[in-house]
Amino acid sequence: MSKLKRTPPPADYPFAYKVPPRRSGNEINGRGRRDFFQPEQVFHNTGRGTGRHELDWAAMDMFFNLTNPWAMFWENLKAVWERRKAAGPVTGEPIAVDDPKAMADRVKAKAREIGIDLVGVAEYRDEDQLAGITFPYKYAICLGHAMDREEALYVPYKRGATEVMRTYRVGNEMANKLAKYVRSLGWQAEAYGIGEDLMQIPQAIRAGLGQLGKHGSVISMEHGSNFRLTCVLTDLPLALDEPVDIGVEDLCATCRRCTTDCPPAAISDSKQWVRGVEKWYVDFDKCIPYFTHTHGCGVCLEVCPWSEPGRGRLLSQKLLAKRTDARVAAAE
Ligand code: SF4
Ligand code: SF4
Repeated sequence: MSKLKRTPPPADYPFAYKVPPRRSGNEINGRGRRDFFQPEQVFHNTGRGTGRHELDWAAMDMFFNLTNPWAMFWENLKAVWERRKAAGPVTGEPIAVDDPKAMADRVKAKAREIGIDLVGVAEYRDEDQLAGITFPYKYAICLGHAMDREEALYVPYKRGATEVMRTYRVGNEMANKLAKYVRSLGWQAEAYGIGEDLMQIPQAIRAGLGQLGKHGSVISMEHGSNFRLTCVLTDLPLALDEPVDIGVEDLCATCRRCTTDCPPAAISDSKQWVRGVEKWYVDFDKCIPYFTHTHGCGVCLEVCPWSEPGRGRLLSQKLLAKRTDARVAAAE
């Protein structure tokens, strides 16, 4: 049974496009395409690359921004102000790094000291980026910031949405602090948070923060999907983390919680081809109008069983044990 504090509103909308977007968001995202190509920005554009006003979905994005409640707007404003500190000068000569593993441990310890809940290192790849945008770095230090679960359970209403924006704002502040720390070691580093033109999910999965769930977001053992991503890009030599297998695939194969609870029925029970990869995919054209109407929705993240505090480790142990039992039984 859903633990949400209030029942989500039905998926009927008080607004409509006079002129609908020229292209479906699913088409732009490459749903159904088996060939790889870099993604295009559809929503939440910062103006880098293609530019806000050229986006097919720019009017919906603008509507989202203009109709946000004041508390959310205020958190967003503070986050934008904070982003001024995302980059800065390196201080001193680069320290020599003979042992990238020891350096990664040092940076992770600093991240935890700052208060960051999840941290892992992935190789930065241009292919994860929007077409036309590249960043001149080798590594992505991927960061996860847990939301206050009690507040987040108020999605898809103003109170839950404000918690999302508060978490992004705090996440931005923490990422900025970590980037500043890396620069103090004499290596360039830049923080990236909400609204930036980075595809953070593939990076975070490669960095071992969690696995992709049927609802299209990362599921971690520690916080389920009740967290938000930021990252720090840098050239500081760091040992890479490996992707994890905590059993997310096993549960998503039979669980239908998010598919059933998503008000506009945007989540599919089968994987789909998207830009050359077969994976879980959320129907953009169904999700985003509801997301806009409810200031960010997030129902699928909070109803997911992994998001129940303290449940992830046990769930993972059970799922992996069941998998082993099935293998043993098949071999007998
Ligand atoms: S965020 Fe999108 S996919 Fe998730 S429940 Fe809301 S409408 Fe559905
Ligand atoms: S709610 Fe169930 S199906 Fe959806 S992502 Fe979570 S575990 Fe997977």
